[in-house]
Parts: sequence; C-alpha cells; structure tokens
Amino acid sequence: MITISVNQALTQTAVGLEVRVRGWVRTFRSNRFIAINDGTTIHNIQAVVNFEQTDPELLKRITTGACIEVIGDLATSLGKGQSVEINVSALQILGDSDPEKYPFQPKKHSLEFLRENAHLRPRTSTFSAILRVRHALAFAVHKYFNDNGFYYMHTPIITGSDAEGAGEMFRVTALDAANPPKNEDGTVNFKEDFFEKETNLTVSGQLEAELGALALSKVYTFGPTFRAENSNTSRHLAEFWMIEPEVAFNDLDDNMMLSEDFLKYVINYAIKHCADDLEFLDKRFADEEKAKPQQQRSERGLLEQLNFVINNNFVRLSYTEAIDILKNSTPNKKKKFKYPIEGWGTDLQSEHERFLVEKHFKSPVILFDYPANIKAFYMRLNDDGKTVRAMDVLFPGIGEIIGGSQREERHDVLKRKMKEFDIAEEELWWYLETRQFGTCVHSGFGLGFERLVQFVTGMGNIRDVIPFPRTPGKAEF
Ligand code: ATP
Ligand code: MN
Repeated sequence: MITISVNQALTQTAVGLEVRVRGWVRTFRSNRFIAINDGTTIHNIQAVVNFEQTDPELLKRITTGACIEVIGDLATSLGKGQSVEINVSALQILGDSDPEKYPFQPKKHSLEFLRENAHLRPRTSTFSAILRVRHALAFAVHKYFNDNGFYYMHTPIITGSDAEGAGEMFRVTALDAANPPKNEDGTVNFKEDFFEKETNLTVSGQLEAELGALALSKVYTFGPTFRAENSNTSRHLAEFWMIEPEVAFNDLDDNMMLSEDFLKYVINYAIKHCADDLEFLDKRFADEEKAKPQQQRSERGLLEQLNFVINNNFVRLSYTEAIDILKNSTPNKKKKFKYPIEGWGTDLQSEHERFLVEKHFKSPVILFDYPANIKAFYMRLNDDGKTVRAMDVLFPGIGEIIGGSQREERHDVLKRKMKEFDIAEEELWWYLETRQFGTCVHSGFGLGFERLVQFVTGMGNIRDVIPFPRTPGKAEF
C-alpha cells in the first residue's frame, strides 16, 4: 500500500493498486460516494464506501468539512469527470466536523461570505485554485530572475526614511502609546525610541535595491510593503507584496523591455503549470461576466486574455500622446469622465488609464515620459526639463500593474530635485553618495504581486487573491 495525494491518485493509471488517501470531505451522496479534496488539485477523488458493511455510526460522521482517511483499491471510475476512484476497504475519521456549524455547504457562496471566513476559505475550490496559482506565480518570479542573472536581495522592512514618497506609512515604535516621552515643545521624543529615531514600515524596497544594483548589477526584491492610505478600493491593500528589479546600465527602453518580457514569462508559466486551475477560473470568470451589464463586460474570456497578453506587443505611448488621445476621446467630449482632461500636466486617473487600455487600444499599454511634478523625485529628468523617464504598465481590468523609471544618476540634478521636493539631504545621504562614487545609468520598477495574481486569476477584488487581506478596519485572522 502507498500513501498518495489526491492529485497523485487521479493521475495514477495503476488500477488495482492499494492506496491510502487523506483529505477533507466536500460531499457525501447516497451513503456511498464521498468526494475528497486535499488541496493538491482542483479535482476531488471519489471514494466509494460499501454502506452495508460499514458501521452506521461511522457513516454519520462523514460530513462536509470532516477530515478523513480512506484505504482501498484504485478502480476505473464509471462516473463522469474522473478517471479513477477508490473502492474503500477501510475508513477512518481523522477530524470530525459539525455539519450544522460548518460555514460552507456544497453550493455557491458569495466572495464576501468567504472573506468573513478567511480561516476556512482555502478549503473552497475557488480559493484553493487562487492559492495554487499564486504559488506558481511566485515561483516563476524567482525562476525568471535567477535564470537571467539577477540576485535576490532582502531589503529592510523597517525603514528610517519617510522620503520614499509612495504613500502614507505605518509607524513602528516601542514607546508606550499611553505615555510617550515628550520634547519640551510637547512633541513625542523619538530619540528615546528603540531606533533612537522615527521609523516606519517600508512602502518600497527601491532605494535600497538601487544600492544593490550599483554593486551587483542586477538585483530584485520580493517582499511585503505597507501603505496606510485609506483607499478602500478593489486594487489596494494596506499590506501587499512587491517585486522590484533594479538594473545597472539599463535605460528606460531596456526597463520597458524587461517589464514586458518578465510579465509574459510569469503569465506563460502559470498557463503551462496551472492548466486545471485556470480552466476552472476561466469558467468562473465567464459566469461573473454574464451577470454584468453588456457594456461593462470584458472583451475577452480569462484564458483568451492571458493568451492575448503573452502573444502581442504592449503598446508604447508617451504621456503627451496619451493626453492628446484622451482629450479628443468621446467620453471626454461627452463629459463622461469624472475628471475631465483639460490639458497637458494633469495626473491620469484610473478611468483614463482604463479607457486607453480597455477601449482605445484593447491591449496592455506602457505609458512613459510623464510630467516631472506628478512623479517621484528620483526619476531621471529629460532634456526638455519638464518630463521624467517614468513608465507605468497598464493592464486591462487592472489599470496600473507596474510603476517604474530610469533613476536620476546625476548628483547635482538629484540634489536640486530633492530640494524642490523638500527632502532633507541628511535623510538620504547614503542614497546621494552612490551618485558621488561611481554613479551610472540604472533603472527599475515595482510590480504589485497581488495585482498580477488578480490579472491571472480574473478576480475582481484584490482581497480575494491574498490569504489574509489587510485593509482599513480589517486585520482579523
Ligand atoms: P496606484 O496609483 O494604483 O495607487 P501607485 O502609483 O501608488 O499605485 P507605486 O508606488 O508605483 O504605486 O507602486 C508600484 C506598484 O505597486 C503599483 O504599480 C501597483 O502594482 C502596486 N501597488 C501600489 N499600491 C498598492 C496597494 N495599496 N495595494 C496593492 N498593490 C499596490
Ligand atoms: Mn505608480
């Protein structure tokens, strides 16, 4: 007898082989057919019990949610949708479940309901499929970079600078919140805090990744980042995972090429390695779309969309060209945009990004060369003196998935920009020093991992692609 997973059992052709399988009961029909799932595949294995020869008290305990072990021979299944089943010779309850109280019934539950039961939702088909795809994508990220000569660099999670400018931060402190030490002017004296200064959770590993790139040439970070922005949207989390490659000697064109090649690689990896899960999610996506009004439906099915993205070039468009398209667009003329496009210089809102990607080009778009004053201080200033070498990769259904730039490598220009942005030199002296000792052209970008998982799984809400989401007012589990 061998102990195997449900996935292994289902791909076994050795009919007659005696196996032991363990997992959780999805359904139990006719006192005879148990559907068991152990999370190794989207599919359940059917275990067939001989109820005449089984203790009725034991049969009663085979309920949805219970954990069981079965031993039996693999047999060719007569039921549709599966190749093999197990003819049970011995059955044991490993963990009982109260069917009255177990939150999930064998029917469709709303995503909101699943979120409230995040401790148990990995037991559902939808969520276990998402978790497996999420794993495959994370693995593909490391594989891509490793195969392409990048070094994985761990940048700090606690940061002493708040100059990164990417959003509101969470304070990290060991002071007594009820009675903190005070300065004479009544403000909190952080010199008495653990790090003898104010510290926060990081919003990005970029600045430190730059230090790595200026020594190891190609590095990437892949770690948790935190933003205390109170934006309750379907695209924002307070805690999310960010992938940030940083490459010495790359200019913005190289950076755009890297972002496109990287995205295509990881999406293709998921298509190849998660075929069953994506087939399931593709059907789910189609059902969700059917429930939407016609004009809000996506142009393509989920798998169709993924294949489109890996097989077509991303559109490249300067900010200036984008403004022209938007200004003359039908929704702008008909005053359908919440934020009308008046002219050059305005920041683009997600409604504008989605118009370009979903209606105008129907393709991923890389926007570049944004006005300097709407982008971060570290982005390289163009010769026109008013735009910077920034790029955003925009995806259908998602909007911004990547934000990146060529970095300002000139010491004098960087110092001037910091002054203009009101950033104290003492805070970032170490960042400035890299521009004094062997500076060079370099570029990088940040990809929000959950937005990538959203795109690949077709999930509309970012809270459904991370096991335990952190959002305003929510830190259960
Ligand atoms: P947005 O405009 O969508 O709020 P941003 O411009 O603030 O994003 P960046 O600072 O450029 O984002 O961060 C790089 C990437 O990190 C984004 O392109 C996005 O994929 C992801 N990201 C940013 N903020 C969040 C968040 N709160 N939750 C999840 N992902 C995020
Ligand atoms: Mn951005």
